[in-house]
Amino acid sequence: AKGAAMVTAVAYRLTEQARQIQQTMAEFRLSKAQLLEVKKRMKVEIERGLKKDTHKEATVKMLPTFVRRTPDGTENGDFLALDLGGTNFRVLLVKIRSGKKRSVEMHNKIYAIPIEVMQGTGEELFDHIVYCISDFLDYMGMKSARLPLGFTFSFPCHQTSLDAGILVTWTKGFKATDCEGEDVVELLREAIKRKEEFELDVVAIVNDTVGTMMTCAYEEPNCEVGLIAGTGSNACYMEETKNIEIVEGNEGRMCVNMEWGAFGDNGCLDDIRTKYDQAVDENSLNEGKQRYEKMCSGMYLGEIVRQILIDLTKRGFLFRGQISETLKTRGIFETKFLSQIESDRLALLQVRAILQQLGLDSTCDDSIIVKEVCGTVSRRAAQICGAGMAAVVDKIRENRGLDHLDITVGVDGTLYKLHPHFSRIFQQTVKELAPKCNVIFLLSEDGSGKGAALITAVGCRQRELDAQ
Ligand code: BGC
Ligand code: MG
Repeated sequence: AKGAAMVTAVAYRLTEQARQIQQTMAEFRLSKAQLLEVKKRMKVEIERGLKKDTHKEATVKMLPTFVRRTPDGTENGDFLALDLGGTNFRVLLVKIRSGKKRSVEMHNKIYAIPIEVMQGTGEELFDHIVYCISDFLDYMGMKSARLPLGFTFSFPCHQTSLDAGILVTWTKGFKATDCEGEDVVELLREAIKRKEEFELDVVAIVNDTVGTMMTCAYEEPNCEVGLIAGTGSNACYMEETKNIEIVEGNEGRMCVNMEWGAFGDNGCLDDIRTKYDQAVDENSLNEGKQRYEKMCSGMYLGEIVRQILIDLTKRGFLFRGQISETLKTRGIFETKFLSQIESDRLALLQVRAILQQLGLDSTCDDSIIVKEVCGTVSRRAAQICGAGMAAVVDKIRENRGLDHLDITVGVDGTLYKLHPHFSRIFQQTVKELAPKCNVIFLLSEDGSGKGAALITAVGCRQRELDAQ
């Protein structure tokens, strides 16, 4: 009888434990009504960013990009491109040929940016960038070419023209001093001068979302939205110029860099943020900022997972209640590990092997729980990202006074491309929340490099026209 009572007690503890774990997970499971609410709030913030009176304090900045049209195939020439702010820093040579057999040929080299440089002084950062350009030009044997350059700089910039961009704030892992409030194109030009080795003509500063949209639009003219779901999260789209009140003119359209990662920074998402989201925010380089991005981008998903695992361990539900040094380490769960853990093809034993690799000793039950935590966190990410996109495509539909809109979205980013479920759940959510839009998603091939070159080509042409 005593044995039976013990078995019952153990079973009870197990179900009670399961109940408590499910209760924790429930906070991350959003209903359709909640997601529609996220979409609605995004719409409100979009309007605040676009209107002159509210632009200054708006969280979703809706930054003008001075890109007024998508490519038409007449772009031509050789260009250099830089890609800073994603998973890798790259220097590229892009050869675009127009005409019947239009083509784009690319050469690129990846460079590491050590963390001391990302978080050192601005001068060090830009000297390092120019050092990499110098190495690339040597490698390509092109030191004396003086090519036009497009700078994909994946951070919020206040642009007053195609080739001027004042850094509003660093995001993701960057924190170099003396850059915020400065024109990054000038910082680059000054660093090139300091080096005294070569000359370059910096023509355009480009957000990665815009580069992605332009790259996809080169293949598919109906592409008027760009999305990055990677280390960071952001979108851009072609807005009616008349609606962008801080830009003069009422004619045509201009691409706006939404900077939607900052959605929620005024507290408007507080009802769906959990204590784990708050902990991630408090542990970050930019507390209080980019709250939406911290719920849905690759740099932070693993951190949310880690916070939940720490809590479940403290409550005795995981890892025999032992919080290891590993679990205390920031950034252990990179997107690629989440992707592996959530892969359907993986047996639990393999999940355990991955956790083992990370230095976490797990039981079979532990691995089931970890997998469920990962799935729940990434599902919410895909859903709220989809809710944001639903607001964007519906806004475009309304702009054009249509009952039904067909549109293509160009997409890039490691989370979107590598994660086994993110893209599917994201697409489903957009479909459900914006039923009047038929949205096609097009993966961009190397959007940051190619897109920057395409925009630079358009910029060079515009300059020639202006000079006439
Ligand atoms: C930046 C955006 C960028 C996005 C994706 C965010 O942190 O603020 O400018 O587009 O990351 O790279
Ligand atoms: Mg990128």
